[in-house]
Amino acid sequence: MAKQEDVFKKVISHAKEYGFIFPSSEIYDGLSAIYDYGQNGAELKNNIKQYWWKAMVQLNENIVGIDSAIFMHPTIWKASGHVDAFNDPLIDNKDSKKRFRADVLIEDYCAKIEDKENKEIEKAAKRFGDAFDKAEFVATNPRVLEYRAKREAILSRLAKSLEKEDLADVKALIEELEIADPDTGSKNWTEVRQFNLMFGTKLGASADTATDLYLRPETAQGIFVNYLNVQKTSRHKLPFGIAQIGKAFRNEIVARQFIFRMREFEQMEMQYFVAPGTELEFYENWKTKRLNWHLALGLGSENYRFHDHEKLAHYANAAADIEFNFPFGFKELEGIHSRTDFDLKAHEKFSGRKLQYFDPERNENYVPYVVETSVGLDRLFLALFSTCLKDEVLEDGSERTVLSLPPALAPVKAAILPLMKKDGLAEYAETIFNDLKYDFNLFYEEKDAIGKRYRRQDAIGTPLCITIDHDSLADNTVTIRDRDTMKQERVPVTELRRIIDEKTSFRNLLSKI
Ligand code: ATP
Repeated sequence: MAKQEDVFKKVISHAKEYGFIFPSSEIYDGLSAIYDYGQNGAELKNNIKQYWWKAMVQLNENIVGIDSAIFMHPTIWKASGHVDAFNDPLIDNKDSKKRFRADVLIEDYCAKIEDKENKEIEKAAKRFGDAFDKAEFVATNPRVLEYRAKREAILSRLAKSLEKEDLADVKALIEELEIADPDTGSKNWTEVRQFNLMFGTKLGASADTATDLYLRPETAQGIFVNYLNVQKTSRHKLPFGIAQIGKAFRNEIVARQFIFRMREFEQMEMQYFVAPGTELEFYENWKTKRLNWHLALGLGSENYRFHDHEKLAHYANAAADIEFNFPFGFKELEGIHSRTDFDLKAHEKFSGRKLQYFDPERNENYVPYVVETSVGLDRLFLALFSTCLKDEVLEDGSERTVLSLPPALAPVKAAILPLMKKDGLAEYAETIFNDLKYDFNLFYEEKDAIGKRYRRQDAIGTPLCITIDHDSLADNTVTIRDRDTMKQERVPVTELRRIIDEKTSFRNLLSKI
């Protein structure tokens, strides 16, 4: 089995074993691509939300946050283009009866060519050592050039066919490239069809009067339809932004990558309203800002890259993804789109209401342009969880599993561990717990050997463990153990609040952006 698959399996089993993520409705054999967050997962998820919200809303005086409803007027999805165009091209394998996204099959094929390209580069780098000039090699090596040209030709043909809705050509491409079902090797494919990803439901008690609704496939439209309400009540001038965190629902064709692609997931979206003509400058600006926000998490700059879109969505005049190196390769983590005035103009047309802004500097009315940043909360959770989960061999040869999350995001900030229950240690530990619980999410445990307790805290990413022993009763000091260095230090109890705060505060993370 490939090593990457092992890593991914370990991520999934660790997430379940330590109360981060459970398959939904598990006692009924689960529900495909739906997951529940457990006690530690819910904490981590909330902390990620806070990191995003604080970075967006608290640190930018011209960005405010809202919380709009999941149910929205059905005409909104006509106006936004989702009823007509929120489709994915699907293809079935007639032998395995498995369903795939036709575009993803082709993109995966190209990713394999890219792997070959990268292997050539790695080989050459080893061969030439310090003298290796990567730019020169990539620009001149015939093999690399051939791979690249092939990949670009395929992707550009795919983009054109999708643009023209020429699904027969997408099928032809799959056949020409001899793409097979990755699990069975069968090349016996059906035609390619479009499939709308929105979930439908009904509002109202009686069958004849009920209205057909959709579960929102993105949170953005809740921001667009409230744009004027917020602008007027907040009295912000352009440019200003509206942020929102909330659930979105998509009936994904293929959802086989744990929480990477779910049918119910959460988005953290921000729409930045700007004057027409200034949008591309703000778009570049937000690309940089959003990448820096990710980099502050410390997961390693080599794990991120931009992917500029060749095929632009119907509403965009520029778009890029921030891709992350997940256990199954580089994939989209966040989208940054320059959405023009498409959405607001469409809502003006469909609602019959004016959504214009009076610009006092230009002395004119216009519909603002929009730059959007949209990150999947669950995908960010997976990025953090899979990168921070490590097996370490210690100096004494023993092993430990540690989840080295950024301390501000850790589900538990500190564990309070009396060495034993008796001799008044538990009572003393409880007073510490009761004092600090107003400031931090803590964990209290008195059972098992202390080493075992440390390991359990390492496995859920607790940055600090505080141990209360007999000396504590005599001199009011405790031992504090650092998750990453495993160093232990004796500190006065009165210093604990400051030490935990210094280690785990959001300020540490936010000031790195
Ligand atoms: P993909 O190409 O992977 O389907 P997308 O381009 O359709 O994603 P967007 O519509 O740009 O995604 O949504 C913004 C963000 O929402 C994505 O960057 C991703 O992080 C997240 N997201 C989208 N679909 C899902 C899903 N099914 N499960 C989890 N997160 C998702």
